[in-house]
Amino acid sequence: MNCIFCKIANGEIPAKKIYEDDRVLAFYDIAPQAPIHILIIPKKHFATLLEIGEEDSQLIGHIFLVANKIAKELKIDESGFRIVVNCNRDGGQTVFHLHFHLLAGRPMHWPPG
Ligand code: AMP
Repeated sequence: MNCIFCKIANGEIPAKKIYEDDRVLAFYDIAPQAPIHILIIPKKHFATLLEIGEEDSQLIGHIFLVANKIAKELKIDESGFRIVVNCNRDGGQTVFHLHFHLLAGRPMHWPPG
């Protein structure tokens, strides 16, 4: 499969990794939209959030625990952060491998653009 995030997950394409375990990888976004911009991905390929099933509940929960851990490690837990999942065209998704943006280091605006 020609998926850039699968290639990052299996080491074919380099990335600046910040966390990895058997199910999840987190790395810095190549075009950061905030002083801290990390992508957290499941190693299992899902094109979009719409592809997850009941059997993936633990994995998705684990991703939020990883975000929690990274936020504490980077000391952005108290100042705060935002987690974003873009889905399909109107969501602004450009890479079709499920990923969670972890954004921090500046105040986030609401409503988002
Ligand atoms: P989205 O628009 O939600 O699909 O987000 C895709 C994100 O992947 C964007 O923020 C891109 O900057 C980022 N991205 C694309 N290619 C790479 C790469 N090789 N390494 C790190 N981040 C990437």
